This record gives sequence, C-alpha cells and structure tokens, in this order.
Amino acid sequence: MSETPVSLADIAALSALANGIVPADARDAGAASIHAGASIAERMRRGVNGPIYADGLNDAALIARKEFGRAIDALNAAEIHSLLAALAESSPAFFRVLRGDVCGMYMSDPGVWERIGFPGPSSDTGGYPDFDQPQSHRVTTMNTTQAQSGTGLEARPTSAVQAFLAKPAHMLIGGQWREAASGERLESIDPATGKAIGSFPAGDKADANEAVSAARRAFNGAWRKISPYERGRLLQKAASLIEKYGEELAQLITLENGKPLWEAKKEVATAVSWTDYYAGWTTILTGETIPLSLPGQFLNYTTREPLGVVAGITPPNYPLTMPLYKAAPALATGNTIIIKPSEDTSLVALRLGEIFCEAGLPEGVFNVVTGLGETAGAALAHHDDVDKITFTGSTEVGRALVRASAGNLKKVSLELGGKSPNIVFADADLEAALKGVFMGIFFCQGEICSAGSRLFIQESIYDEFVARLAEMARAVKLGHGLDPETKMGPLVSRAQQQRVLDYVRIAGAENARALSGAKAPGGALAGGFFVEPTVYANVTNAMRVAREEIFGPVVCAIPFKDLPDAIAKGNDSPYGLSAGVWTRDIRKAHQAAAALDAGTVWVNCYNAFDNASPWGGFKQSGWGREKGPYGLDLFTQIKSVIINYT
Ligand code: NAD
Repeated sequence: MSETPVSLADIAALSALANGIVPADARDAGAASIHAGASIAERMRRGVNGPIYADGLNDAALIARKEFGRAIDALNAAEIHSLLAALAESSPAFFRVLRGDVCGMYMSDPGVWERIGFPGPSSDTGGYPDFDQPQSHRVTTMNTTQAQSGTGLEARPTSAVQAFLAKPAHMLIGGQWREAASGERLESIDPATGKAIGSFPAGDKADANEAVSAARRAFNGAWRKISPYERGRLLQKAASLIEKYGEELAQLITLENGKPLWEAKKEVATAVSWTDYYAGWTTILTGETIPLSLPGQFLNYTTREPLGVVAGITPPNYPLTMPLYKAAPALATGNTIIIKPSEDTSLVALRLGEIFCEAGLPEGVFNVVTGLGETAGAALAHHDDVDKITFTGSTEVGRALVRASAGNLKKVSLELGGKSPNIVFADADLEAALKGVFMGIFFCQGEICSAGSRLFIQESIYDEFVARLAEMARAVKLGHGLDPETKMGPLVSRAQQQRVLDYVRIAGAENARALSGAKAPGGALAGGFFVEPTVYANVTNAMRVAREEIFGPVVCAIPFKDLPDAIAKGNDSPYGLSAGVWTRDIRKAHQAAAALDAGTVWVNCYNAFDNASPWGGFKQSGWGREKGPYGLDLFTQIKSVIINYT
C-alpha cells in the first residue's frame, strides 16, 4: 500500500463529516469527532482506502464550496447532513467507507463510546449503554418526522419505509413473491399504537410444502455448484446491503417490534457483522486427516457436508438477527433454508428476503414462509423432506418441535427460554452492578431470553440496591421507539402484554412487593402494549414469578446469605441459559462461574455477546450452541472417507 498525503484541512474535513455521522455530545466539545477524523486521516496516510478518501474529500470540498460557499469544516450541522446526503449519491464508495470507518471507530473504541455516551459497551455499564442519559443526541440522524415532545406516537418513518409498507407484502418461495395458497392474510401491528401497519400472507401447510420443494431443488441444483468462495461473496454482499439499508431496517424493526430505534440500530449492526462473520467461514471449513492403526496402508480423511434443507423458526424479539442467526451459518455451510418468522415481526423477515434476492442468491436458497406457528411452523416441523429444524423460542414450543421431528428424525437445535440469575455480592462495584442489572432486565423491554430476571442480592446491601434499582426503573421514559427520547418501548404484542400483566396479578397474590411499575400506563400510551418497568422485592425463589419465564420488564429481587446460598438458589431452576456475577473478589468470581449451571456466565458484565463466542443453554434452555465455530456444527455432518492403498 502506498502512502497518501494528508493535510490539516483533510483532518478538519474528516472530523466535521464524522460529527455528521455520529454527532458528538455537547459535553465532549467535539473531541470524539476530532479523534475519529485524526484516526481516519492516519489510516488514509498509511494507504488504507487512500485513493477513495482522497477522491471523496475532493468531491466533498467541491460540493461544500458550490452549495454553501465555505470549506467543509466551516459548515453547520444541517449543512453537513445535506453534504453527506449529496456524497451518498455522488461518491457512494467514499460515503460507505467513511460511514463504515466512523461507525467502526465508535463501535470499537470504548474510550470514544464513553466520551460521547453513544450506546455501546463500556466497562462501567456492564456492556450496555448508559441508560441514565438522554439518548436523543446519540441516535444518528434520520429523516424521521418526530413529535417534538410527548410520547412520540405521531412519529413517521422515512419515505423508504413508507414505500415498503405501502406495497402488499408477499412470501418468498423459490425466488417468487407469492400470496398464501389460501389467499388469507395476517396484520402486522405497531405495538406502540396497537394499529396495523401492513399485512402479510398467512401461509400454511400448502405453502410450507412448496417452500420445501423449492429449497430441495436449489440444494440439489444451483447451490451445490457454487464454490465456497462464491458462497462467501454472496453472504458478504448481503451483509453490505443490510448495512446500506440499515436505517430503513432499523425503523422497520422499531415499527414491528417496538424497541427504541437506538436498540434497533444495534441489532442492524449485529446483523451486518454476523453475516460477514459467517461469510468468512466458507473457505476455511475443512476436515481432518486421521492416522489409522489398521494393518496395511490407509488414508482416512473427513469432510464437512451440509445437512440439506433447513427450516429456521424464529421469535419476534430480534426480527432481523434471529432469521440471520439461522440463515448465515446454514448458507455458509452449503444448506438451503426456509425461514418461518414470528407472526409478530414478519415484515422485517420479508425485507431480508428482498435483500438476499438483491445480493444474487440463486432462487430457492433463501425462502420465507410467513404465517402462524401452529400451521406454517408445524408443517415445516413435521415435513419429512426437511433435514433440520433450527428454532429459537419458548421451551414449550421447543418440546412440540422435538415431537414433530420424530417422523424423519430430522436434526434439531433449540435456543429456548430462560430465568437467569444475576448475582450481586456486597463487595461488587455497586454503581457498575446497578447499571448492568438494570440493562440486564430492561434492555429490549425484558423480551430477551437471557434477561437477568432473578436478581440475587447479598443481604447486607439488599434494601439499598433494590431501592436504587426501582428509582432507576421509575425514571424510564416509555414511548414510541421512533421518538429519540424513548428509553423503553412497548411489548411486542397484546398477548405478550397480557401475559406479563397476568404475572403481575400472580405476583400480587404471592405477596411480592412492587417497588415500581406493575401496571400498564394509561393516557396517551393506553392503546399500545406497554408495561412499566417493574421491580419486585419480598420474593422467594419458590414463587411462580421467580420460576416461570415472564419475558417482559419484570425483575424479582431475592436476598442471599453467602456464595453457597447464591449458587444453590441460582441453580434452582429448570432453565440454564445464562447467569451474571458481580464481585471484586476474583476467587468468588471463579467459584461462582464454575458452579453455576448456565450456558454463559458473565462476570462484572451482562448480555455481552460476540459473534465468535458460543451461545446456548443448559437444562431446559436448549440443545446445541450457536455462534462461533460451534454454530458450524449445527448445520454440517461429518463424512469419513477411508481409502485402502496397501
Ligand atoms: P414462541 O415459542 O411462542 O414462538 C417462536 C416461534 O415459534 C414463532 O415463529 C412461532 O410462530 C413459532 N411456533 C409457535 N408454535 C409453533 C408450533 N406448534 N410449531 C412450529 N412453530 C411454532 O416464542 P415467542 O413468544 O415468540 O418468543 C419468546 C420465547 O423465545 C421466550 O421463551 C424466549 O426465552 C425465547 N428466546 C430464546 C432465545 C435463545 O437464544 N435461547 C432467544 C430469544 C428468544
């Protein structure tokens, strides 16, 4: 790589553009943007994307002069935004590289995250954004029309989202966009308002059968002929398109699922990196040679073969990443797939289908059958030509899928429910623990399998800790996820809201003491599926609210005496998905990590996920491990070839 000359004016321009992409906090006085601009300039000088940056900066300077009569670093925020929009058209490569680098910088440098308070991992928030601060300045600009104040229920999505919602959504089967064979449709509801935003086909057995045939044809045909390198390229293209349409996808996620836009953006970022991650595996997926002890001369080697037709059945809490958690590793390993998304968030999955088509996947390789679980989902689970079910959802449905798959003994992997213990020792950094515990339960409205819903607090700090947690919960602003002031959105459906409110009644009957929430808000939010963040004290581990998964913003605080007491209570659950431990004592941390029955144990952090780190449950929380190299095992089978060359 040859060096590219960089001037001070280039650094100033890059800083101004970086500030347009991720606005700096007023407290930070622009230092984060200057840091980003200087870092990019240094990479540019070393030759990383040097010519793209040099040409792009020239173009940007010309537009700034022509449109505003000033240099880039003299433009105000609105002018920078319109300059960025112009660059997206005139220098798309530069715009993409710049945006990728700026976001990457903010995403990967905890120092920058902390200075500007952009939502992201930081040491003292336990891996999650600082919920105490307003989020408005941290959300990258969008053309969303937002209410100036209030609940944000009047928020309007951008024109791209409106255009997508305006056209009738169809299922993707064998490269064709189709209505359900029955002609029936289901509505997609914005959970913040309870109003329909669109509809999609109510597929059933007939559609599932069509999709399986299409996926089988593709598996035996075009897809098999594509080299591992090409498979990787197609996945990379899909990742780039997800990034390209990131803002639109984030809004769609918020509209269908309810989560705040800044959380939806994190989901999109994960979707991009996840798809890229598995794209990287296609060419390095190798077998072994095994020395045999048989008499004579033998060569024994193994290959990893795809399973065939995979059906991925997914829940609504991560409408984009859940289908991709199934599709990216399944496709990377050479399978074809049919996604049956949740009936609450099917439009996002259909938009993903469009993206895979645009990326150039052969027809039938990625299919989406929308519809109800009991019809479309069950048909796939029972189908004798489906080789594998990969499921994320409730333990109850997981059991039904195991029974349904017995016919052809299809392979099954399950990511199921949880009731995770989050254990706070008195010697912990309590400020960090409070934030981690808070995010551990209230992130994604508590609709997250790993939610730290059983909070064990050492007796000496119990009263103070729960009181402070409840105070934080009471301060949460509920509203429409498109409103940048919203810290927590609604639950995904009326049924889920009712389920959570049923548990509120059960908790009351069990004499748990609500320190916050325990109700649906009234007023302007009454039409949506909201439940206020709820902290219960006076809970024992035997109560139903401490044993059953609620899947909502409800945490049960239970006191414990010492380490053995915390472990005994923490492990006393049918679930074993994850656990958290907060302590400054390294021996205690290791002892707890060793003793807890959980697929993942977080120490002094919570909900810290990484594409490369395995994910899955002990006990009734699941079968198998997704993510990292472990995820490849779920979609491949080993063939052993023994050659006698004596
Ligand atoms: P759910 O089990 O009701 O539904 C999940 C999916 O299964 C949906 O697409 C649904 O249509 C389908 N389905 C329902 N009945 C079916 C049937 N009989 N046959 C085939 N498919 C059927 O779960 P949910 O309420 O949508 O999601 C919440 C659950 O998901 C919680 O239990 C949560 O813990 C779990 N979850 C687990 C993980 C994990 O990684 N372990 C991640 C997210 C969510």
